[in-house]
Amino acid sequence: MPSTRALPFLAALALLTSPAAAAPRLKVALTFDDLPAHGTMPPGRTRSQMTKEIVAALRAGGATAFGFLNAKAIDGADDEDVLRVWREAGLPLGNHAFSHMDLHKNTAEAFEQDVVANEETLQRLMPREDWRWFRFPYLNMGDTLEKRRRIEAFLSRRGYRVAEVTISFNDWAYHDPYARCRARGDRQSVDWLKSTYLEEARQSVDEARAEARELYGREIAHVMLLHLGDLNAVMTKPLLALLREKSFDVVPLAEAQRDAAYAERPDVAIPHGATLFDEVRAQKQRPAPQRRESVLPRLAELCR
Ligand SMILES: [Zn+2]
Repeated sequence: MPSTRALPFLAALALLTSPAAAAPRLKVALTFDDLPAHGTMPPGRTRSQMTKEIVAALRAGGATAFGFLNAKAIDGADDEDVLRVWREAGLPLGNHAFSHMDLHKNTAEAFEQDVVANEETLQRLMPREDWRWFRFPYLNMGDTLEKRRRIEAFLSRRGYRVAEVTISFNDWAYHDPYARCRARGDRQSVDWLKSTYLEEARQSVDEARAEARELYGREIAHVMLLHLGDLNAVMTKPLLALLREKSFDVVPLAEAQRDAAYAERPDVAIPHGATLFDEVRAQKQRPAPQRRESVLPRLAELCR
């Protein structure tokens, strides 16, 4: 047993001899929204095929993920298969509102009914597991304080926790252009989509870490937003490699949100989709950081 006085010296020695081993491990939870049907599929591809590939990539990378259900989108055997494959892999599901309803375009009453309408299917698919996690569609959590407080109280009465987001790189915007470019056989554009996806993921991870340090004065456990779209069938593997390279371990959602950063929901109304950092900044009245130029316009035009 080394004496306590020797410990700083040994820690310094460990840093010098093995910098990689000494890098602190960080935690991230992966969440996939819009099960069973997000975006268009390339010709000849089924959603269940895609789901099997995403699940296989997660398993190969030793990673877990949390799925968020819109039961209204279940339309036929392929969609049922998506959910069966997801659940048979032991992956959990939570509530993303029955019809993916936008709280900012609907009344609180209608929204509450949409949350409840999703529960029967969640109970069927998760009979013994905890499905009481809620992910707001479009990350729209209430554009007025009155609405926000009402829905927060409603969710909490029904036993839900809100699934936050700290890392989002707009993966939702890639799946439709990917389907279009695949349909055209435009390999150059497909390659551009893949490299852009990974570069945007890399930058968003770095930005999220910097924002956490700025807002909390430390590293926090993160929650990454993804969607069950077809480009993720090929990108889950490189994304997991990127997270490993960035010193992240993929953990269950509940474990990530045990971090004290998630202990309290900020009491703010934000007129647009908001990450946890947007909420905390609004509460602390801090300005939004400078954003990079968005790739969204280019994605929207690609392979038209
Ligand atoms: Zn969604």
